[in-house]
Amino acid sequence: MVKSIALHGGAGAWRVRPGVEKSIETIRKCTEIAWRKLVELNNSLEAVVEAVKCMEDSGYLNAGFGSVPNLLGERELDAGLMTSTGLIGAVAAVKATRNPILLARIVAEKTPHILLAGENADKLALMNSLPPLPPMPEVVMERYREVLKKVFRDEPADYFYKALKTFVESNGVFHGLIQKLIEVYDTVGAVAIDDRGVLAAATSTGGVILKLPGRVGDTPIPGAGFYASSSVACSATGIGEFIIKTMPCLRLGMEYESRRAPEDALRSIFNYVEKNVGSNTMGLIAIDKDGKILYGYNTEAMLIGYVVKGEVFVELKPEPRIKIIHDV
Ligand code: ASP
Repeated sequence: MVKSIALHGGAGAWRVRPGVEKSIETIRKCTEIAWRKLVELNNSLEAVVEAVKCMEDSGYLNAGFGSVPNLLGERELDAGLMTSTGLIGAVAAVKATRNPILLARIVAEKTPHILLAGENADKLALMNSLPPLPPMPEVVMERYREVLKKVFRDEPADYFYKALKTFVESNGVFHGLIQKLIEVYDTVGAVAIDDRGVLAAATSTGGVILKLPGRVGDTPIPGAGFYASSSVACSATGIGEFIIKTMPCLRLGMEYESRRAPEDALRSIFNYVEKNVGSNTMGLIAIDKDGKILYGYNTEAMLIGYVVKGEVFVELKPEPRIKIIHDV
């Protein structure tokens, strides 16, 4: 048996962005912390929750404290987790909880449900003494202002924001507001296996910037933003609507069930994604039952952290763009 862990800090362009260096540092720190936890406790669930909580707390990634705002400048957060032993929980559109991943765990462990949404989910967080969501950090405010400026200046090149702009304009709200915002998806996620063979996945996000209020993406949807079976655990990032349409994490689980070689499995998923929703849409990290680390993305970049033979690696544009790390 083998212990293995991988984290992501989101797929996207990661171009001119305040705080990129801090985001990279955050991934390194959180990978180290989560790996120590995995070694200490030999519990993959504890490790992925620790990893995601660390990223949510940083303020430099789009989850928890650092979450980006919706069209009206409010934050609505999603998160979900799952293990190969059948534990599963998620929360959607919470507005007042600093660590949605801790709340998703409470849903999984303490309620008979899988997905709770909105202010009643926030109440559950309060009842369980989870910390409240503090005001937006300056780095997120800066990014929000920048994106708003771009919105007023340019035409959106990206399908997602074109469609959103058309909707907003045809509804007469915030006329002309939406435009090219392709760099802005950067959810966080973690996958791990402990040497009891338990696989775990966890994902958390503020969603895509300037989303319509009430929009829920892939992150709290099992099989889309997160998934774990007895063969593989997966966490996805990218444009949620495209991820829900193509279900890459569930698809990866199914490929493993049909005993496909990991390389072929991953390649067939990205071929499917390309064919159905196109490129520049998503990325994922996964760990399989042998501890192998898998990643793939079709965006410009994807920030990832992982551990090979006790050493932490962090990459912003990992090459090749689809890869299996065998020798962990
Ligand atoms: N997948 C997330 C969403 O659409 C965004 C992201 O990955 O950054 O809500």
